[in-house]
Amino acid sequence: MPVFAGLSLGEEGWCICAISIAQGVDVDWVFDKRPFIRLNGGQANVYRAQPRFGIWSMLLETLRKEVLDGNLELVRRGLVLYTFGNVSGIDREKGMVAIKPSGVPYEEMTPEQIVISDLDGKIVDGKLRPSSDLPTHLELYRNFPGIGGVAHTHSEYATAWAQAEKPIPCLGTTHADYFHGPVPVTARLSPSEIEGDYELGTGTAICRVFQKLDPETIPAVLVAGHAPFCWGKNAAEAAHNAVILEYVARMACHALLINAEAKPLSRELRDKHFLRKHGGNAYYGQVRR
Ligand SMILES: [Zn+2]
Repeated sequence: MPVFAGLSLGEEGWCICAISIAQGVDVDWVFDKRPFIRLNGGQANVYRAQPRFGIWSMLLETLRKEVLDGNLELVRRGLVLYTFGNVSGIDREKGMVAIKPSGVPYEEMTPEQIVISDLDGKIVDGKLRPSSDLPTHLELYRNFPGIGGVAHTHSEYATAWAQAEKPIPCLGTTHADYFHGPVPVTARLSPSEIEGDYELGTGTAICRVFQKLDPETIPAVLVAGHAPFCWGKNAAEAAHNAVILEYVARMACHALLINAEAKPLSRELRDKHFLRKHGGNAYYGQVRR
């Protein structure tokens, strides 16, 4: 990692500051507390400095790779057409979000192209523009502190439910394994939300739905007239939930075609399936060491 020096003269403060050499990147420099070289008995001191996030090794490289893989998972599972959809992930400690770049074909995407933003939407690293849905993702991260990844698709069946403005009822145990109740649908956005900051308004509409629901037990929502957003503890889980959501949306559609009077699962069966996989008393699968 390159190290830069800063020079202080007496009480004057920094005379020569370390400068960013990466174009378009605001670098947060951290200076050593002790002088690297003392001159004239401390009248002039040279301090070493290095960038806080280590940009030369690629900022948040692991998170970028996870987010790229989450995006590619949507392609592998047939959930996206062309450049539709986007997956992001967050490093909660650093308050940084990594998200797919806007309009880049999935087959050409590289970790370097994943865009890094802070939680206020300021681009911290990346030469490309982020997905236009970034403000929606950020609103979810700000309001749902337990989540670490967000996935948005226009997958066919889940989007059909969103366009029909109908929540997906919990008709079977596959649904209950992942979503502890119906997958809700938002209200329509108001004209001012559509004309103003539309993507932020989409996030706000989602958060309104979850004022009375737990986003960690129902990790998906249908945005009215638009499409689903899903989330999870990281980018991989968010993408996985998007795949499962599409599957249960398709099965719910088929079940209601076979029997328009099909009823949701009983509370007991729904709870059994959700709670054996999630929460403190979960017993499904292998014990994680
Ligand atoms: Zn969309």
